[in-house]
Amino acid sequence: MKARIATCSLAGCFGCHMSFMDIDERLLELAQVADLDRSPLTDVRELGPCDIGLVEGGVCNSENVEILRAFRRRCKILVAVGACAINGGIPALRNRYELSQCLAEAFLTGIGVTDPKMPSDPELPLLLNKVHPIHEVVKVDYSLPGCPPSAEAIWTALSALLAGNVPQLPPEGIRYD
Ligand code: SF4
Repeated sequence: MKARIATCSLAGCFGCHMSFMDIDERLLELAQVADLDRSPLTDVRELGPCDIGLVEGGVCNSENVEILRAFRRRCKILVAVGACAINGGIPALRNRYELSQCLAEAFLTGIGVTDPKMPSDPELPLLLNKVHPIHEVVKVDYSLPGCPPSAEAIWTALSALLAGNVPQLPPEGIRYD
């Protein structure tokens, strides 16, 4: 039986997903032992039971919380991929300001705003006051640091997890940018 892997991008930039794609031809190797479930890389909408969930990005709104909790419920192993998932990263730079200040800067008074108006579409997810690393919301099993982690690090960790082992990255595979 093939393993199932799901991935998601919460408050992230998809750079970690791009790094995942940078494992290049090893994607074919991966496809022989695992199927992708819900992921920005597939058209799967519903998250099924998975062996491994890779989470990029921090938690900045109510939809992120919902998705992250679903990943925790449905994935046996949850991996925080990249600085944003581990410590909030770049999106968490807003944490030093009040949310109202950030919204005013972005939509009302900031440079380049030409039609000052606060977005009010009810379908927009509710913003949290602060951006949180994912371990503040759910239990995380492993973390892959870096902005983004290198393709090599992602491949090493994923291969170990698929083989039922604990991922061990060589020191040169760990970066904290
Ligand atoms: Fe993008 Fe870096 Fe955050 Fe990954 S860790 S989502 S590359 S900003």
